[in-house]
Amino acid sequence: MPRPIRATVHLDALSHNLSRARLAAGDAKVWAVVKANAYGHGIERVFEAMRAADGFALLDLSEAQRVRALGWRGPILLLEGAFELRDLELCSRLDLWHVVHCDEQIDMLATHKTQVPHRVFLKMNSGMNRLGFRPDVFRAAWTRLNALPQVDEISLMTHFSDADGQRQGRSGIEHQVEVFLRTTHDLSGERSLCNSAATLRHAAQPFGHAGALAADWVRPGIAVYGSAPDHPEHTSTQWQLRPAMTLSSKLIATQTLAAGDTVGYGSTYQATGPQRIGVVACGYADGYPRHAPGGPSVGAPVLVEGVRTRLVGRVSMDMLTVDLDPVDRARAENGLPLVGIGAEVVLWGTSHTGAVLPIDEVAQAAGTISYELMCAVAARVNFE
Ligand SMILES: *Cc1c(COP(=O)(O)O)cnc(C)c1O
Repeated sequence: MPRPIRATVHLDALSHNLSRARLAAGDAKVWAVVKANAYGHGIERVFEAMRAADGFALLDLSEAQRVRALGWRGPILLLEGAFELRDLELCSRLDLWHVVHCDEQIDMLATHKTQVPHRVFLKMNSGMNRLGFRPDVFRAAWTRLNALPQVDEISLMTHFSDADGQRQGRSGIEHQVEVFLRTTHDLSGERSLCNSAATLRHAAQPFGHAGALAADWVRPGIAVYGSAPDHPEHTSTQWQLRPAMTLSSKLIATQTLAAGDTVGYGSTYQATGPQRIGVVACGYADGYPRHAPGGPSVGAPVLVEGVRTRLVGRVSMDMLTVDLDPVDRARAENGLPLVGIGAEVVLWGTSHTGAVLPIDEVAQAAGTISYELMCAVAARVNFE
């Protein structure tokens, strides 16, 4: 029998979350961001739910090929554009739209031989300082691109560094919106600015003469997978998002501790009295964060048969340990027996009881973000 750990992808949740993003985006078209193998969910697995989007945004050319192989004829956007000249051949062949963020990519386009001109998204570095042309050279890049026979329509885009919060005491997007508007006000072309956080928090806000900040295209990623982009300011429940992934396993052993007994490597947890704990078939080799706390005062949250409890002791490679006392107490109140080997454990997502453990809470406990947990689910975990 395989180890009982598995990841379940919920297509109904993906559809629901995508429609939440669409609702927030008003009239804008929606790129479903499926980079990093759909944030670890698997492009092929999410495709049926995601085809309700207007396009797919990603950055790996092999992932673009996989989306085309699934039969998608609509727009695909390469968020980092071409890495080398022959990538542009694939763009021509597969009709991929691509970001242009640097002069070298314009040089590549200028030497690219193509029958069909490319649809490009010219990226502005409006303050994030990762990819894009700075405002003072953005218009020159636009003029150069616009003169190339290899280029069809030019769309304008930028990416926010702080859409989930504040930046220097102001709304996290204000400064970059100003820079973008000032630089692009008289340029033609579609516009795309909003990631999940900006879509949910700011998409309806006024945006120059173009209407709302959602503009022509929004680019939600994490929200579609059911995580709140601005956790803990808002929770996924507050945004009405549902977990698209459940990571679940089972108890493979239980132990009864006496006062003074310790648990796991480093003996970081010590029982203060009699206590039952459960051993779960899930460890850091499955992608569960080793830094999730299991100390005397705080333990990362986990569900056992739908009842919330917490980690005790360190996460090891293949196992972790959880406090069973809250589970047994809650079950006793309902006349249910103690849990034992085979009991369901939800590391994040939705229990068979309907109880939900948001991935954001696990990420926060482990000092990381939901994105990292989703992307880190290991290859040895079977998906269903
Ligand atoms: C990843 C990415 C997104 C999606 O971000 P989320 O925070 O997951 O919504 C949008 N735009 C660009 C350019 C990205 O790289």
